[in-house]
Amino acid sequence: EAKRLRQGVAVYNPGAEAARALHLSLLSDLATAIQHDELRQFLQPKRCVKTGRVVGAEALVRWLHPQRGWLPPGDFIPFAERSGRIRQITEWMLARAVRTLAGWAAEGREPMTIAVNISTLDLQDQALPARLAALLAEHGVDPGLLQLEVTETGLMSSSADPIAVLHALRSWGVKLAIDDFGTGQSSLAYLQHLPVDELKIDRSFVQDVHRDPRRQALLKSIVGVGQSLGLTVTAEGVENEAELACITACGCDLMQGYLLARPMDLPDFERWRGEAG
Ligand code: C2E
Ligand code: CA
Ligand code: CA
Ligand code: CA
Repeated sequence: EAKRLRQGVAVYNPGAEAARALHLSLLSDLATAIQHDELRQFLQPKRCVKTGRVVGAEALVRWLHPQRGWLPPGDFIPFAERSGRIRQITEWMLARAVRTLAGWAAEGREPMTIAVNISTLDLQDQALPARLAALLAEHGVDPGLLQLEVTETGLMSSSADPIAVLHALRSWGVKLAIDDFGTGQSSLAYLQHLPVDELKIDRSFVQDVHRDPRRQALLKSIVGVGQSLGLTVTAEGVENEAELACITACGCDLMQGYLLARPMDLPDFERWRGEAG
């Protein structure tokens, strides 16, 4: 055995084999997940640091698998992206968000944005902006209430021209956010060329920020540059009061995280919103 390993001969690995089999079976299940109504849209609120007002929510997908139960996006989004299946998930998430926004408007509730996560593959779809505009028009929803979150790495790794799609989306009035900012390769200077409205600072800069003066300095400078470009700056993954105090001192505009609320299904979100005022 040791000799075979040294010679670099592939050794049977039951762990990897099982993981592969699991992925293959999930991939085939994913093909029918939408038809079988197994996806759910959870909402996590975002709050204005200064006024305390809840200004929007991020939509996060969950899969209620008939055999495996609740699956977090990390368990299926990566291979949905590799297989191209992500486009249908995005389409479903967008339709769900627009229906929710239309419902809130019909009930006369105070307007709130919903942000949907978009992947690299979606940005290669030149027809997405017009399709989305038609969906919004069909439901009479103000495009300014829909936001799309794009990761920095997604933008950099896209082969087609993702900036063209972003400009088209924005020309229809849809709002754009850069997600997980700080984790990719792009520089702050790159931001000035992107047609975006909001910068979401990755949780890795927020976590334990009160314990690390250097992280705090970094956070403060990202907030400063973002705001000088006219962007709304959001701190992601705020879990406790100490982190909140720190991101407030750094000048963040919005906060999102377990301290405020976990992602919830629509009925729970509406109940929460009613209680939060
Ligand atoms: P993300 O876009 O950065 O979303 C934030 C993630 O952080 C969510 O995980 C959320 O539940 C979690 N989170 C929020 N507040 C806190 C906090 O205070 N502490 C900690 N530790 N975590 C917090 P989730 O729902 O598991 O989603 C993971 C990732 O999956 C998302 O990261 C996003 O990249 C992707 N994703 C989720 N839904 C979709 C979708 O519909 N489409 C696409 N393309 N990607 C999605
Ligand atoms: Ca996001
Ligand atoms: Ca994020
Ligand atoms: Ca993330």
